[in-house]
Amino acid sequence: MRIGIIGCGIAGQAAAIALARDGHDVTVFERFAEARPLGAGLLLQPSGQLALERLGVLDAAKRWGAPVQRLYGRTTGGRTVMDLRYAKLGKDVQGLGLHRAALFQALHDGVTASGAKVVLGFEVAKIKDMRAPHLIARDGRAEGPFDLVVDCAGAHDTLRKALDARQDDPVYPWGCLWAILPDRTGAFGQELRQVCEGAQIMIGILPVGRVPGAEAEGDHVALFWSLLHKQYGAQRTLGIDKLRARIEHYWPQAKPVLEELHDINQFTLATYRDVRMKNWRDKRVLVIGDAAHGTSPQLGQGANLALIDALTLASALRRNTDVEMALAAYEKMRRPHLRYYQTASRRVTPMFQSHKRMPGWFRDIFFGPMAKTPGIARIMRTTLAGVRKYPLGLWKLPD
Ligand SMILES: Cc1cc2nc3c(=O)[nH]c(=O)nc-3n(C[C@H](O)[C@H](O)[C@H](O)COP(=O)(O)OP(=O)(O)OC[C@H]3O[C@@H](n4cnc5c(N)ncnc54)[C@H](O)[C@@H]3O)c2cc1C
Repeated sequence: MRIGIIGCGIAGQAAAIALARDGHDVTVFERFAEARPLGAGLLLQPSGQLALERLGVLDAAKRWGAPVQRLYGRTTGGRTVMDLRYAKLGKDVQGLGLHRAALFQALHDGVTASGAKVVLGFEVAKIKDMRAPHLIARDGRAEGPFDLVVDCAGAHDTLRKALDARQDDPVYPWGCLWAILPDRTGAFGQELRQVCEGAQIMIGILPVGRVPGAEAEGDHVALFWSLLHKQYGAQRTLGIDKLRARIEHYWPQAKPVLEELHDINQFTLATYRDVRMKNWRDKRVLVIGDAAHGTSPQLGQGANLALIDALTLASALRRNTDVEMALAAYEKMRRPHLRYYQTASRRVTPMFQSHKRMPGWFRDIFFGPMAKTPGIARIMRTTLAGVRKYPLGLWKLPD
């Protein structure tokens, strides 16, 4: 089958590996002239690690990444709002903190080995004819027809609008500033730590291990600072010294990492959308990854879900020779898992990022005790691990 993939991000590369390995003739079209990773550090859950293992690139990712044993969140006043340990799910269960460039490198090597082709500098402006899809580039080049086109163009994708599917993709008013910094003291390994005050202040430090091409050798962390987009200009004007002092005011123990901040340009702004699509397919075109179901990153699931989408698509195509039937089967297989995480992300996000007081209070009062109540604690841990499905029960990766 001739398959065109739009976007050489996490979903696009994973789909290329899985589909080329099954013998399909796969070409990935990426808008940038150089394939490069976008965005902050990532926490890969056990579900995403299993997907990477199936893609044959987990060991390569692990050589860069850092193990994460626990998620620990507290208020600035010291009240525990989250304390989830992976080990309670099994002896060797853990998260994997990764710099995006490391995941990108591992997947990119996998794409090269799979025989899939990558065309750079091809920004798809239009998908023409859903029954025999062609890709039309912004500069007028055309490719196709394909037996199947997979749109993996990320949360801010505009191509999905061409599908005959009810959809909406509002941008969250809150985003975050993030920076990758060396962890020279080694004090921030093993745990994703968060400090919050209400739902207006949230700071996170995630260990991401070694960073390809970084000046400093050794382990690094991703630092996250929550903010309203409209405050972005004001934060930049404030300058790095004042911003660093602000963060240190809320989290004095973060000083060893904060001392690595010297320039406001070390921070990048991340924005997120809540992408909702009634269905993800139209004839021979399928949308996967953030383009289909982008969420806020509060639950740390987006990359994991994108990897699983890719493997599930390959599985559906192995079971059905007819493309449209395969895409219908894909939707059926993915819906319970994706519905759970989209709904959960929507519910949890205001508890960490909102101008309202109630959601933050709710989190401060209930999350700590909930994490100590056996049945509920298990739901919280399995939610974190990426293995729950809607309405109830545990999700399993298809063969
Ligand atoms: C601050 C932050 C923290 C996060 N933390 C986590 C985490 O801890 N764990 C986790 O699992 N997830 C996390 N995520 C979510 C994760 O980054 C996304 O879910 C993941 O990147 C989605 O992958 P994707 O391939 O669908 O999209 P992307 O990674 O966005 O890739 C899209 C690709 O398509 C290309 N493209 C776009 N338009 C076109 C076009 N028209 N033509 C050709 N190419 C195009 C882009 O250049 C890009 O290469 C986080 C996100 C943010 C913003």
